[in-house]
Amino acid sequence: MIELSAERILKAKANLGEGPLWDHRAKVLWWIDILASRVHRFEPKSGKNDTWDVGQMVGTVVCRKQGGLMLALEDGFATFDTESGVAKVVADPESEKSDNRFNDGKCDPAGRFWAGTMNKGDALQLWTGALYSLDTDLSIRKHLEPVGVSNGIVWSKDAKSMYYIDTASKAVDRFDYDLETGNISQRQTVFKVPEEMGYPDGMAIDNQDKLWVAFWNGWQVARICPQEGKVIATIKLPVANVTACAFGGAALDQLYITTARVGLSDDELAKQPMAGDLFLGQPGVHGVESSSFAG
Ligand code: CA
Repeated sequence: MIELSAERILKAKANLGEGPLWDHRAKVLWWIDILASRVHRFEPKSGKNDTWDVGQMVGTVVCRKQGGLMLALEDGFATFDTESGVAKVVADPESEKSDNRFNDGKCDPAGRFWAGTMNKGDALQLWTGALYSLDTDLSIRKHLEPVGVSNGIVWSKDAKSMYYIDTASKAVDRFDYDLETGNISQRQTVFKVPEEMGYPDGMAIDNQDKLWVAFWNGWQVARICPQEGKVIATIKLPVANVTACAFGGAALDQLYITTARVGLSDDELAKQPMAGDLFLGQPGVHGVESSSFAG
């Protein structure tokens, strides 16, 4: 087992830091604080972190090819203009389900925006969520139901595999992926999470098609081989709730890691003063560029 290192790069104290995404055009890291309804932009060069309040819980952020950003909000898929600070919902598949909100999501290599929903209450028990994609013509498709806590979507280099995490199932799953149609099939578990590792949360993929999974209540990010179903390397962190990771830097050879404070008692917070902060790991491998929304 290879043990890799990480250091804190921003004292963010996020309630629920999540959704890191490297923007290779602007050379900044977008990330969110879901419960604080905040979109953040961290610029490594200056160390500056800018923040937008989007007025409702935000589950993920992705770049849009034509400029600007896309968000998955409580009220659905939305465009977001950082100049004006205005988020505009363009499609809401769950207008009837006020107990749900959107959670994690990413774009496939064809530019479709995938994101899933979860219950705002005890989502690990209440499987009221579903997994959707927003196509480039702004039409929505539902792919999976029921879902507990939709997380960690990545695609292999050949785009024939989509890896997905439903945190409530405590597993990393693989689907056959049809890039042309955007259809998934043949779900199978590639890594069943052992009790002591906590809950699988966000996920990134490197250029060798290995998975980097953040573990909630697991104190680490683990590099997992989906073919062999085993952990190859770990990055230990000084905080329990590790939520998501993304390759970044000009060479995509660094790993940005988000963490959370929510769910920790005062005692635990006293022992984890860096909970909610942003970390930078040295993965020793390169990632792949994230895809942007093409609609
Ligand atoms: Ca998550």
